[in-house]
Amino acid sequence: MIIGIDDTDSKRGMCTTYLCAFLLDTLHDEVSTPRLVRLNPCIPYKTRGNGAIAFEIRTDNSDKVKEVVRSCVCEFSELDDVDTNPGVVFIDNEERLSDADIRILKCYYESAVREVLNIEHATGIISHMDFDYFGLKNMRGIIGALAAAAFVLLQRSSVHYDFTYELIAYRQKARWGTPRIIDENSVWAADAATYPLTWDTVDVANRRIVFAPHSPCPVLFGIRGDSVDAIYRAYELIYAEPVERVRLFITNQGTDFHLIALDRNAKLLDYHSYIVEGVVESPPVTIAGGHVVFRMVLNESSAIIDCIAYEPTKGFRNIVRQLRVGDEVVVSGSFNHGTLNLEKIGLISLNREEMRNPICECCGRRMESAGRGQGYRCKRCGTHRATKEAVTIDRRIEEGLYEVPPVARRHIAKPLIRMRHERAYKGLVIHPSR
Ligand SMILES: [Zn+2]
Repeated sequence: MIIGIDDTDSKRGMCTTYLCAFLLDTLHDEVSTPRLVRLNPCIPYKTRGNGAIAFEIRTDNSDKVKEVVRSCVCEFSELDDVDTNPGVVFIDNEERLSDADIRILKCYYESAVREVLNIEHATGIISHMDFDYFGLKNMRGIIGALAAAAFVLLQRSSVHYDFTYELIAYRQKARWGTPRIIDENSVWAADAATYPLTWDTVDVANRRIVFAPHSPCPVLFGIRGDSVDAIYRAYELIYAEPVERVRLFITNQGTDFHLIALDRNAKLLDYHSYIVEGVVESPPVTIAGGHVVFRMVLNESSAIIDCIAYEPTKGFRNIVRQLRVGDEVVVSGSFNHGTLNLEKIGLISLNREEMRNPICECCGRRMESAGRGQGYRCKRCGTHRATKEAVTIDRRIEEGLYEVPPVARRHIAKPLIRMRHERAYKGLVIHPSR
């Protein structure tokens, strides 16, 4: 039986992954590695990371398991919060699913990460496929619960989805809401010993530890990476307060699965994330709050959009500030109200040409405009030229792919360092940020 759970947490506390870890330690049956599935990161009503969980359990008594899950969700969910609307989906009739059903679930999972779904969509599939489910309050968690359960099912079928791991350590209950005790030096040492097989533990450029939340939730920290061995090696190196439990998750974090490649002449939609190519149309400007904005024309549709690097993206803004009109770029990030919130930028081809007033052949000084449409002349020597001349200028930046630093990274965004063994977008050189 596959069990998917979502939306038990609130901004104030709890965490659906903790509920999952607790359940797995409570159910003594044979359980799979749980999945942590990040859904559309720009959904307006999400809690922190918009993550749902799912796992598989081998059991002779599925009614008993369902009862344990149900009581756990009722007990742990932050039901006082208006935005907490738990949902649970049980898939215990897998053998009866057709290939067409699997295709529907594949489409559903992909939509849950990339689009905005409603509860009716989820309950329609649930009743069509005869899954068992339950929910509390408005049950919006059903949407993510079904997506997470589908992810488990799909990973076993012929669909290959990129995935990574996260090992999450949970705090003892008496410590919830108190400052976390983590020896920072040991975290830096653990990162140094295991990067790039682990990533986003620290932010080197910003001198920050980024693998621990600051909310009152039960999570002490989470170690993300591509290698289970390296993750546990890092865990062994970290000195911190005693933990209640730890659990390894397989996850779609760090995969860029939320990005949609724009079809020709398609329109960009709010609350969706895209990867689009185009040409810089206006020079970058720094606006109030320290955010940096520029305008680009899309190749796919010739639409004009604003791209923004927010202040929390820190040094990434210095890359964006180097852009010139005419640069060919590829950008990725979430789109809202005509503006794309930059997660990555690829400089495909830099515009190194600048038009300047011509130089006088006699005295070597720059000529001045002789008036509108009159060309250029040197007052001193009386020489004349009809047009400006193109000069090649130095750019203080090079072509390649750039990303926001770990401190500003979305869970689902793929760190560039993960592309080191593959051909990155159009063969661009990667400039990982850490
Ligand atoms: Zn001259």
